[in-house]
Amino acid sequence: MANDLASMNNDELLELMRELGEPNFRAKQILLWLSKGARPDEMNNIPAQLRSKLDEIPFGGARIIEQKRSKKDDTVKFLYELDDGNIVEGVLMSYSYGNTLCISSQVGCRMGCAFCASTLNGKVRDLTAGEMLSEVTAVERLIPASGDKKRTVTNIVMMGCGEPLDNYDNTVRFLKRATAPDGLGISPRNISVSTCGLVPKIYSFTEDAPSITLCISLHAPNDELRRKTMPVANAYSLKELIPAAKHYSEKTGRRVIFEYALIDGVNASDEDARELAGLLRGINCHVNLIPLNSVKERSLNGVTRQRAARFAAMLEKLHISATVRRELGTDIDGACGQLRNKHINSGREEQA
Ligand code: SAH
Repeated sequence: MANDLASMNNDELLELMRELGEPNFRAKQILLWLSKGARPDEMNNIPAQLRSKLDEIPFGGARIIEQKRSKKDDTVKFLYELDDGNIVEGVLMSYSYGNTLCISSQVGCRMGCAFCASTLNGKVRDLTAGEMLSEVTAVERLIPASGDKKRTVTNIVMMGCGEPLDNYDNTVRFLKRATAPDGLGISPRNISVSTCGLVPKIYSFTEDAPSITLCISLHAPNDELRRKTMPVANAYSLKELIPAAKHYSEKTGRRVIFEYALIDGVNASDEDARELAGLLRGINCHVNLIPLNSVKERSLNGVTRQRAARFAAMLEKLHISATVRRELGTDIDGACGQLRNKHINSGREEQA
């Protein structure tokens, strides 16, 4: 049983209604409200006495406290405040097919990747499924769907703060609620989960969420280099990670996406491209190249668009499908954890 209302599914709400001595049909009504991100005080077809009982249960909300719109493109970055005052962030990116919302799965992160701002202060706590759903519904409430569109958020990527597979149960619960017709009703094919490579969890994910797109942050063509920027590489070598990726694609029939942030002077040479092509040969996959978004606190820099294009062309020539990801929101601290850190640091400065 979930602890917060926003995480609950139909069966749990039915059980709650039984416990509270309420009729079953209330569960459906509440679920419909929850799919719109409504808190009990807004549930106007629910009797006041039941609303106040629901109010006693932690909700699992995420309130937008700041939004930054890019002047270069339609990207919007959000800062969310959770009910206990913790801060996470999300980014809405607009594409021809719809809008993708990048959400956070943890407050901070404990994976320790050298280039990532989310992990600078470690992990504070996991998000509940309800809080992740609230990240989506808060955006939909703020920005109503335009034109003939049914909803604002058509696609979700779990690429904000945190490691989703390090918060496995809540992530899977979130994915079930996000794709359920009585939840958000978003197609699983429109949802991607990104992991730094927690191998045993990749095997579980293949069983529990086979229709969701799996993205693996690779960022290096060999273990030696990978260990320099990703501590997780000490726990799981490529000898374990690559077969897990292969297993996912063979079992689900879906392409696995490898993310590769190009870091100047570290992993972006022609030789690295050749080695990467060798590593990925025979896997049904696509490589998403991202010129590293330089993070103030880290002394690692991205490569030029030309270098990234050359890296992609080399992979393509070696029959590995690859594209350079469009850089969005570079003027609004688009990379993971940047805006949250700025917010936390500015708070500290004010207090000092
Ligand atoms: N923990 C998950 C998801 C969060 S990060 C993971 O590791 O995959 C989403 C993606 O952004 C990951 O590929 C991550 O490595 C990458 N990333 C983090 N910091 C970045 C930066 N400064 N520039 C470019 N990509 C970055």
